[in-house]
Amino acid sequence: MHDRIAPGVTRIVTSKRDNAFLVDGDDGFTLVDVGWAKAPAALLDTVAALGRKPSDIRRVVLTHAHPDHVQGAAELRRHTGAQILIHAADRPWLEAGRVPAEGRCGALGRFVDRLPAFHWTPVAADGTVTDGEVVDRSGGLRVIHTPGHSPGHIVLFHEPSSALLVGDAVFNRGKLALGPAALAADPNLRPAGLQRLPHHVSTVGFAHGAPLSSAHVPQFQEFLAGLPQHH
Ligand SMILES: [Zn+2]
Ligand SMILES: [Zn+2]
Repeated sequence: MHDRIAPGVTRIVTSKRDNAFLVDGDDGFTLVDVGWAKAPAALLDTVAALGRKPSDIRRVVLTHAHPDHVQGAAELRRHTGAQILIHAADRPWLEAGRVPAEGRCGALGRFVDRLPAFHWTPVAADGTVTDGEVVDRSGGLRVIHTPGHSPGHIVLFHEPSSALLVGDAVFNRGKLALGPAALAADPNLRPAGLQRLPHHVSTVGFAHGAPLSSAHVPQFQEFLAGLPQHH
C-alpha cells in the first residue's frame, strides 16, 4: 500500500504500521528508511506500480540504525544498487549488524537487541550525512540531527513541499509520543533536538503510524511545545 503525502513524497507501508518514504528527484528516488527484512518486496512492488524500475532508487537515507529501519537494507541494495547514507554516529551500528549494549538505556532494549530477530546483515555505508546538509539537491531533503532515540537519529525536511519525515523522533501509534525510554539511547536528549524542527510544516510522516495532514499539523506543534525540557 502506498499514498502520496505531499507533492514528490510517497509513503510506502512496509508492514503493519511501519512506513518508508520515496522522494522524487531529478536522478530518481531517494528512499527514507527501508524496514524489516520483508520490506524490500513491498518497496519494489511500489516502484513497479509507479511505472519505475528498481535502479530508480538511487540512494537510501536511514533515519537511524534500528532493525525495523535497516534490516532490509542489504537486500534492497542488491536489487537497486542504491547508495546507503546514515549519520556518522549510527554508522558503526549499521556496519555491525546490531545495536550495541550501550545503544539502549534500558534493560528491555538491551534484551531485545540480543535476539537474532533484531540483528541484520551488516551494511557498509556509502557515506554519512550531517546536520543542515541537503541530501539530494534536486529532491531537497534537509537533514536535522535529532539525537536521543539513537545518537545519530535524523529527521528529514522536504524543502519543496515542507513535508517533515520524523523517523522515530515521534511516534503516531494512537497518539503522538516520544516512544519508550528504555528503547532509546539517551531519552533525555530527545526534546532539545525536536525544538530545532521547522515550524512551517505541511504534513508529518512518521516511521510508525499514519501521517498527519495539514489540518492536524497544529496538534504536532502543540505536542512539541509541551515536551519537558532538560538542561
Ligand atoms: Zn528506532
Ligand atoms: Zn522504528
